[in-house]
Amino acid sequence: MSIIFGPIPSRRFGKSLGIDLSPNKKQCNFDCLYCELKPAKTVDKYDDVISVADIMAALKEALLQHKDIDVITVTANGEPTLYPNLGELIDEINKIKESRKTLILSNGSTISDANVRNALSKFDSVKLSLDCATDKCLKKLDRPFAGICTADIMDGMIEFKKSFKNPLIVEILFVKNINDNTEETTKLNEFLTQLKPARIDISTIDRPPAYKVEALSYEDMINISKLFDPSLPIYIVHRKKLEITKESYGEEEILKTLASRPLSDDDIDALFDDKSKVIFQNLLNAGKIKIINHSGVDFYKSA
Ligand code: SF4
Repeated sequence: MSIIFGPIPSRRFGKSLGIDLSPNKKQCNFDCLYCELKPAKTVDKYDDVISVADIMAALKEALLQHKDIDVITVTANGEPTLYPNLGELIDEINKIKESRKTLILSNGSTISDANVRNALSKFDSVKLSLDCATDKCLKKLDRPFAGICTADIMDGMIEFKKSFKNPLIVEILFVKNINDNTEETTKLNEFLTQLKPARIDISTIDRPPAYKVEALSYEDMINISKLFDPSLPIYIVHRKKLEITKESYGEEEILKTLASRPLSDDDIDALFDDKSKVIFQNLLNAGKIKIINHSGVDFYKSA
């Protein structure tokens, strides 16, 4: 059992120390096809609960060993918002965190619960997953505990965003032939243009999944990102080194591409060949491209 893990360097969040609220076993109200943990029966509450005192003792000890932590990330082998003492825990972390930031990674399923929203409102950043905008997709991909539905999740997110002024980040994990269809992306886009999160991270499977499901290619991810409104800061999460052919872009093509979808440094690195990168840099120096930072990620847009 290890409550604390890391530090893990993250380009988006800095050097992160993780807290696992369910270190002994998987306790989750989803059984996602793509989960990196073994399949497990879904639950709606933890039966194995670590005390706040034990978590804080482990955290304080780890912070003594690692003095340069930027962010304390609360997560779990499962869903961290099912931890019954989350509100009390974040109050205790906030007392000792000093200049460090706090972040929680949740599957979003409990956001319709006012107690959960209250606990999450005490974090510096909140990242919620939303793989599906329809119940048909949710049941197929995330396989939730009985009674969880997309309408409640989406209404809960809207309610949370009304009062949460820190960054709310949404993550969508795409799985081939499950949530990469137009029905889902159209509805997700509609919802996200209403929600206006600080950033939307889109990713695909990159570690062995619990069930037999397939990842999307980087090209598929680029095409999906273009289905969203250009005003949305969509960040394609690059966990693996990409093996794609880099293309040559002229000035106009670069500006047109950035007008249709803002690109991150990772996208530029993956897509542009060396000559295109020089043209891109010249356009940036000339003020024809502007940089907008969305919660730690720079996006480049046509000025
Ligand atoms: S929400 Fe996370 S931990 Fe739970 S099944 Fe899905 S991927 Fe696994």
